[in-house]
Amino acid sequence: MAPRVRFAPSPTGYLHIGGLRTALFCYLFARSQGGTFVLRIEDTDRSRLVEDAEADIVASLRWAGLVVDEGPASGPGYRQSERTALYQDHVQRLLAKGHAYYAFDTPEALAAMRQDGDAYGPATRGRMLNAFTLSESEVTARIANREPHVVRLLVPEKGRIEFEDLIKGHVAMDAAGLDDQVLLKSDGFPTYHLANVVDDHHMRITHVIRGEEWLPSVPKHMLLYRAFGWEPPVMAHLPLILSPSGGKLSKRSATTLGIPVSVRDYRALEYEPEALVNFLALLGWHPSSEQEVFSMAELTEQFSLDRVVPSPARFDLSKLRWSNQQHLRLLGTAQVAARAADQVAKAFGPVAHTYVASVVAAVGHRLVVRSDLCTEYAYFFRDPALYDPRGIKRRWKADAAVLMRAYANRLETLGAFDEAQLESALRTLAKERGVGAGRIIHPARLAVSGTTAGPSLFVLLAALGREACVRRLRRAAAVLG
Ligand code: GLU
Repeated sequence: MAPRVRFAPSPTGYLHIGGLRTALFCYLFARSQGGTFVLRIEDTDRSRLVEDAEADIVASLRWAGLVVDEGPASGPGYRQSERTALYQDHVQRLLAKGHAYYAFDTPEALAAMRQDGDAYGPATRGRMLNAFTLSESEVTARIANREPHVVRLLVPEKGRIEFEDLIKGHVAMDAAGLDDQVLLKSDGFPTYHLANVVDDHHMRITHVIRGEEWLPSVPKHMLLYRAFGWEPPVMAHLPLILSPSGGKLSKRSATTLGIPVSVRDYRALEYEPEALVNFLALLGWHPSSEQEVFSMAELTEQFSLDRVVPSPARFDLSKLRWSNQQHLRLLGTAQVAARAADQVAKAFGPVAHTYVASVVAAVGHRLVVRSDLCTEYAYFFRDPALYDPRGIKRRWKADAAVLMRAYANRLETLGAFDEAQLESALRTLAKERGVGAGRIIHPARLAVSGTTAGPSLFVLLAALGREACVRRLRRAAAVLG
């Protein structure tokens, strides 16, 4: 049977990087098996809803190249808020079978119980306000009077819950350690646990793939599957993502370490989606070869859950940068230029596409992130306002201004403005003046770019074009003397 896998985010904020890793593993597993990738929006916690979170989740998945087969865009029924009748119906079934019960405790009574270090369960339910301590007619009357109430799962006092997790292995737990989980809240909405189980069953989900933080919920879910008489899906809990300084990569630790949290932040920083996907795939999944750079197609082909390790994966931003650099090369200059066009135009005004492409080609493998074009390589788009003082000290000798003016003169009359001609003109000039070529190369680079690093001088000059080169050489000669 082809698997059906769901990504089930709660729209309580923008999709974060860990969420995208979960979605990616769901997606890769579904695709690798010819299965279906379902997006389900778990919006039952009405107090934590963030208005544009769902739109952000959808946009982020699309940007990353994760194509949703079924989800809110396919029609109604993929948001839990649209399925409340289904959950209420299922709660009635559990009540009828004696697997759940009504409870009327006030928040104060619950707080007092917890203060004593107790959980709502076999040991305490006999002294709280619920169907065990009230008569049947009292329960009915309270419900008829619309008194605030919840429905709780009746956790058995004995018994063991065991299951095989595809990644974590055998998991076993005593039912006695669980509390009587709320299934239906006083606002009529289900809790995560109930809705999750009901939906996974009715959506015919075959594999639950999600973060390790949900592992402790599984025993409760198993009790629910048992109570309904359903076969549970296969479980696969992905390893934690650790922050570079150790500990779980939380929103807070990421922010402190300067690690972007939301997928939209990576997008704004101009990381390539292909690179982010490649990087995230390797946070927990170990390919069978030495290969490190993967396209989505290659990931889909090679992915398997049995190569996902249970041990935590460390988040390393430098690996993402490396991945980005590799994917920029794979994309090729035309595509990178097309993706960079908007930001370049925003920073420098309208620039011809062919020029952006030739800058990308000139910068070549040095380009780590597209945004470098507007920072480190801004000199391709505007004359340098400053010259690196250390560069001046090291490279701008007494004869530099004279040599720059002489080279500018030659460039004005140069036949073809290409690397070969630029180089031979420079070498001829150096020979005539009895200096080494470096005496012209280094100050010329400083003059046209303001820096001492970057692509080869002749590549740089050819990309800049005659007019800019002549203007910049003369300006540096005037400014630096
Ligand atoms: N709504 C949960 C979340 O926000 C889903 C957990 C699960 O996949 O079961 O992560």
